[in-house]
Amino acid sequence: MVRELTKVVYKPSVEGNEEFIVIVNPEEYKRWKEGDTTIPLVEVVDSYEIFWSNQGAQGLLGRPSKQQLENAFGTSKDDEVIKQILEKGKEESGKGIRTGDGATNLSKGSAAAEGGLAPQAEHRHIHDMPTTVILGAGIVGLSTAHALSALAPPDHRIHVVEPAPRLFSSASGQAAGFIAKDWFAPALAPLGLLSFDLHRDLAERHGGRARWGYSESVSYSLDHTYQSPDFPPDAQPRTNAPAEGIHGAQEPSDDRSSDTHQPPLLDGHGLDPNVSGLQFETGLEWLLNNQTRASAASSEAENASAPSSGSEGATVKRDDIPKWLRAEPEALEALSDKTSTAQVHPKRLCEFLLEQCLATGVIIHHPARATKLLRDEHDPDARSHIRVEYLGEVSDSPEGRTRVVDIPCDNIVIAAGCWTPQVYATLFPNASRMPRIAHLAGYSVTVKSKHWPPVPVSSNPDAIRVPRDAPVSDDESSSSVPAFLASTLCHAIFTDAPGFAPEIFSRITGDVWVGGLNTSDVRLPPLPTDAQIDATYVERLLAVARALCGEDIEVRKQSLCFRPVTATGRPIIARMHEADLGDGIKPAGWAGQGGVFVATGHGPWGISLSLGTGRIVAEMVLGRELSVDVSALSRWDGVIDYSTRSLTP
Ligand SMILES: Cc1cc2nc3c(=O)[nH]c(=O)nc-3n(C[C@H](O)[C@H](O)[C@H](O)COP(=O)(O)OP(=O)(O)OC[C@H]3O[C@@H](n4cnc5c(N)ncnc54)[C@H](O)[C@@H]3O)c2cc1C
Repeated sequence: MVRELTKVVYKPSVEGNEEFIVIVNPEEYKRWKEGDTTIPLVEVVDSYEIFWSNQGAQGLLGRPSKQQLENAFGTSKDDEVIKQILEKGKEESGKGIRTGDGATNLSKGSAAAEGGLAPQAEHRHIHDMPTTVILGAGIVGLSTAHALSALAPPDHRIHVVEPAPRLFSSASGQAAGFIAKDWFAPALAPLGLLSFDLHRDLAERHGGRARWGYSESVSYSLDHTYQSPDFPPDAQPRTNAPAEGIHGAQEPSDDRSSDTHQPPLLDGHGLDPNVSGLQFETGLEWLLNNQTRASAASSEAENASAPSSGSEGATVKRDDIPKWLRAEPEALEALSDKTSTAQVHPKRLCEFLLEQCLATGVIIHHPARATKLLRDEHDPDARSHIRVEYLGEVSDSPEGRTRVVDIPCDNIVIAAGCWTPQVYATLFPNASRMPRIAHLAGYSVTVKSKHWPPVPVSSNPDAIRVPRDAPVSDDESSSSVPAFLASTLCHAIFTDAPGFAPEIFSRITGDVWVGGLNTSDVRLPPLPTDAQIDATYVERLLAVARALCGEDIEVRKQSLCFRPVTATGRPIIARMHEADLGDGIKPAGWAGQGGVFVATGHGPWGISLSLGTGRIVAEMVLGRELSVDVSALSRWDGVIDYSTRSLTP
């Protein structure tokens, strides 16, 4: 039976947004509130977890630090804090929300982490519910959780495990956010189209323009001659050399996983598993060959069956040129019109997906890491569990707050981007083969130009003019898109600079993103938050930004993040075959469906392909017919081929 989700929310200050929340069992809470002190606290609360948000009712739920508890309650002892929240807080209940796909989705139980429950108590609630655990809260993991919560029956439990202390510190939060309808090779084209439509639908249903900066975009290629002062010799990046290849999964720099057994790589393309670098075979050479995704897409269109994009080659008029760009019309060539490309602010889209997931009862374990699979060896019918260990502040707490939780687990989706091989090797140490994922580092800067967003020009003299310094949202702020931008278009500019191929995007959220400087010279850090920025690369990007947007730009942010790439250049979206997982413990699926899935390797297109990938993986988990044919993404040695439902040769 589906339980109603009831929470008790306590706001220490009426003026602030800060809230402390516990999830309760409504009947026991009612009796306790009415004075029945015989009920133990553990029965009143659904789980012994305290959540915290500073964004009001719609905000993300996190875990409060010890200091925050001390400040608000004068103690950080869980018992005492929970008691105070129950006494002073206000009860709120919710039965779930309408999801992006239109289905009414009832609460799937509590939104609390499982950790605080004693094992018996936990089993009392969830022993007979199908459970999917998604590893990685990047855009692919969250899109999967979001789609699964919309498509799965209400009793399907969904957990997401994410170790990075700061959410969305990976490529999913740092990328440009360019979205294309038909810039893909034939194998990816159906997924690209599905995803483009899902992005547009989601934005229309949920106010995506204001909430995550969804906007139609036009694209140009720009021919620019750089003055030498823009590019002093000492600003040259150390390398951008394709000859060195791209760091492969064979040489993780993660100390925590370096002693993990790494099985031979499963790439199905005869690559020597002992080589450290991964050379691309098809499709992604442009990333290291000083080309933009636009030139790659147009050569796809010439050489293969990929459709060309929109208004390619159309004449550019002076009025078409974005005000923030220093360029003459003859230097620009139109690549696509607004029907075939769009943009999002990827971090905000991730935040939105997470909010939706939490609201539908998805359970987020953060910061935490899945460390092993377990099963009662004396019971042949026993269900598999996955052990999740909390990291950082929570696990170090002297009060011994949740450290380890074993979650029943029927399906696992590994969506850990470049870190996927490490997750795979940790959970399936006896695997005979494993997917091979390499990483390709990309630098970017986010700047603000005085000419973006544009000041609206009105023929009505009484109209209120938005001042030039009107507040616009910066990359990290949570303010929404200014209303006067309601009909403004975004621009994507693809160009050349000495040594690399810059990509520049003006976002509806008021900033300009400059990137395209990739390097094979950076090792994969243990977590995305450990990335070390080399100022040389940043200077290189800023030189381009100043040359094209003006000297008076204001630097808002600099970033280094990692694209997960495969040997074929195509993502892997597939169910793993049991035989490849080795002879250890494996989740058995549920009612003949499910098992272990991998969704990663989206390279330079993970934002664009995210929502489609999430939909497809959710359908795979539930054993449904797939919305589009992704057989080319699962047709590699050792995985189920979804076009034939058989094992490929
Ligand atoms: C500079 C740059 C610009 C880009 N621009 C665009 C663009 O304009 N358009 C586009 O479509 N794509 C773009 N991309 C590509 C896109 O960002 C990626 O393809 C996409 O973000 C990959 O998402 P992901 O969820 O697979 O991986 P990630 O974003 O890397 O997320 C993986 C998650 O797994 C977590 N993790 C790590 N270890 C573990 C573990 N042991 N257990 C569980 N989880 C773990 C990580 O902390 C992370 O949160 C860009 C990429 C870069 C680098």
